Amino acid sequence: MTLTGHLLYIDITQTCGIGCTFCMYADKHKRGSSLALSERARQNIANLINAPGVKRVSISGEGEPLNNVDAFHQILGLSAGGKSFEFITSGFFPHDRLAAFYDRTDALLAANGDTCNIRLSADSYHIEKIRHKPHGFSLQYWLEQRPRALSFSMRSVDTDRQFTRDYLLAELEERSITARIEGIAPLEDELYVDNDVFHISYKNLVHPAEWVSGDYLGLRDYILAIEAKYGKRFTLGSLNNHPMSNGMDVTIKPDGSVCFYGIETIELGNIHSDHFTWDKLARHVAETPLISHLYTVPFLELLDRLDGQEDAQKIINKANNPYWLIKEMSRHSALLDRMVTA
Ligand code: SF4
Repeated sequence: MTLTGHLLYIDITQTCGIGCTFCMYADKHKRGSSLALSERARQNIANLINAPGVKRVSISGEGEPLNNVDAFHQILGLSAGGKSFEFITSGFFPHDRLAAFYDRTDALLAANGDTCNIRLSADSYHIEKIRHKPHGFSLQYWLEQRPRALSFSMRSVDTDRQFTRDYLLAELEERSITARIEGIAPLEDELYVDNDVFHISYKNLVHPAEWVSGDYLGLRDYILAIEAKYGKRFTLGSLNNHPMSNGMDVTIKPDGSVCFYGIETIELGNIHSDHFTWDKLARHVAETPLISHLYTVPFLELLDRLDGQEDAQKIINKANNPYWLIKEMSRHSALLDRMVTA
């Protein structure tokens, strides 16, 4: 199996005080840990970031990553240059503090020859909780400051996409910025301000039935939309456009533990005590039947193996997202076995 174009997620904190209704990590926020970089962790992260097969480094959290900005900036300092980062955030800081964060981040990135896309959550769950709305402010910051290395995009788990569209346009209008939004695919819009384009991506809300009614993509339709976007069948791992091979999706958790994204029951070690390279991780994929199945067999084919099995269907309907489905099914090992070995 050829694996290239890897995605490295670094979850830098579990701390969050925002309290979105749908949050899947709410149980971790009160006693949440944050990533502190030990010497071994620095070596490991530098190895993983600077390997040529990495397409992107995504900084996020099981909490709000703005609560551990120091770790983010230290990670940027480990790059040898030419790297593509993203920072997934609610953007909850007061605007003067947010601008200072953008300025500092842009300076660090530009000095290294790196880039970072700031992906702001723009759905009703986040927006209703955030006092200092960052969306219009951040796009205006970009349009006026033209930072060298920062770009901005929006992400939404809203089942009502029109909410996100109307909200963003209203935010910009309040700042006298005329914009328009065009849908370009089932999971993607583009927001235009004159000739500048900002991307909006939509993700499936996990456990939708608990929070919403109305239209949303069921798991199969969601996967079909992803397959249409990439021009190939969906498997776990980092999906790259057809005809490129896929890569590995690897997550470093705030406590330093490492796993393949979504396959959290198999802990690969800890960045504070073990030694990581992409070659070593690729050997894990090849040598672990569960992981190699999930990385090579189209997910919809795996789902077909569970047709007619009531216990499995209940979990599938509830999780509504392939990565969360694996997480939830792994609590029932027989189900995961049935899915990958039938
Ligand atoms: S901002 Fe993110 S981590 Fe915090 S409550 Fe909302 S979804 Fe959860």
